[in-house]
Amino acid sequence: MPETYEGVATIEKVAALARRRAFVFPSSDIYGGLGSSYDYGHYGVLLKQNVKAEWQRALVQEREDIVLLDSAIILNPKVWVASGHLAGFSDPMVDCRTCKLRFRADDLENAQCGRKPSKHPGETPECDLTEAREFNLMFETYVGAMREDSSRAYLRPETAQGIFVNFKNVTSSMRVKPPFGIAQIGKSFRNEITPGNFLFRMREFEQMEMEFFVPPAEAQQWFEFWVEARRRWYVELGLRESHLRVRAHEADELSHYSSATSDLEYLFPIGWSELEGIANRGDYDLRAHAEHSGTKLEWIGQDERYVPHVVEPAAGADRAALAFMVDAYDEEVIEERPRTVLRLHPRIAPVKAAVLPLVGNDSALVERARALYEALRPHMAVEYDASAAIGKRYRRQDEIGTPWALTIDHQTLDDGTVTIRDRDSLAQERIPLEGAVELVRDRLPEPWSPRA
Ligand code: ATP
Repeated sequence: MPETYEGVATIEKVAALARRRAFVFPSSDIYGGLGSSYDYGHYGVLLKQNVKAEWQRALVQEREDIVLLDSAIILNPKVWVASGHLAGFSDPMVDCRTCKLRFRADDLENAQCGRKPSKHPGETPECDLTEAREFNLMFETYVGAMREDSSRAYLRPETAQGIFVNFKNVTSSMRVKPPFGIAQIGKSFRNEITPGNFLFRMREFEQMEMEFFVPPAEAQQWFEFWVEARRRWYVELGLRESHLRVRAHEADELSHYSSATSDLEYLFPIGWSELEGIANRGDYDLRAHAEHSGTKLEWIGQDERYVPHVVEPAAGADRAALAFMVDAYDEEVIEERPRTVLRLHPRIAPVKAAVLPLVGNDSALVERARALYEALRPHMAVEYDASAAIGKRYRRQDEIGTPWALTIDHQTLDDGTVTIRDRDSLAQERIPLEGAVELVRDRLPEPWSPRA
């Protein structure tokens, strides 16, 4: 396993491609942006949707023991008292009196004074740091017309608590029995002090979290199951295995509620970093909410009654999308022509196939190409493009990560064949137009699922 990143991708190159090809734009761009906030363009929406759809397919559709939830972003603030976020979800911070920037007290190596010009020539400003203070990472808002303490509320910093507070609703309305899970995808908000690295750390991001409720004696075994199942999921969707590792938290790193946590780490160009966390949270959450709400949160079976333990795989949809893009990013020179290509797994790729008439103004070619495009559309995300020289159209599809391009040329009119060009090998094959839809469908890999 490499220690440091050796690929051609950098976060900057991936961000530049993402912007150029309508994956991700800086947010509020015409107003100069808003720190570490991003808007997804057409292909980015499709890519992230595919990531979320594959997650939901693997966890919910392909299993019988996990159900869905979509809880509110603004919850009763008592939720955050019970969960410990109001008291504990903070980083100790120091402020610099010179440049007015704020730094994490546990990461002062990166504290560099914000280079505000000194009034005295020749003098370099240095950070003049305050004592460390707690800084809560939750965004505050007010519910209703009055801006007073009693109406203060918070944007959720994680989706998990919405799941715990619905434990009773779900167990009394769905046919579930431990071991079972509740899965949720949705936005979370954290007023991160040091956001950055593009989609890696933002203040508004999307999470994919699943709480798996199990009989206490089975918690360790399910923890191990989910660590491996989640690792496999990334590998099955194309992340190279040598760039993925499981790192178990040391005892002094563990959250107060967790008896074991493992991070799935990916070798980003910035080094090994967390992609997803899998935690054995014990009965901490259900007990805390039972105590604070006065509602019993337990499993009552025919002859048993207990508070389930919870195993939680918590992933980030944006961070995963970034990892898939970074892993897929490649540059090469073919016959003296440089090309950039996103070698995305076909299930993740925003567009599966492009249909291209060799020349865009030949009505016989256009007619055949449009017909093939219309035939493919009901089955997959497909694009028709007749806009520019064929080489330019191929380069565009390579950068979007489209696995196959189908080109209609003059030979098509003679013998009813089209070429299918493979994004990665660049091999071109002639196949019968009749049957092209089935051929492309057959090439799309089957999904993988983590059955117990
Ligand atoms: P980190 O140590 O990177 O701050 P964390 O341990 O606080 O992450 P969790 O609370 O476990 O993260 O959240 C689960 C997942 O949500 C993370 O593994 C990551 O994929 C995603 N995530 C967390 N914070 C952010 C963020 N600010 N921007 C984008 N994704 C995030």
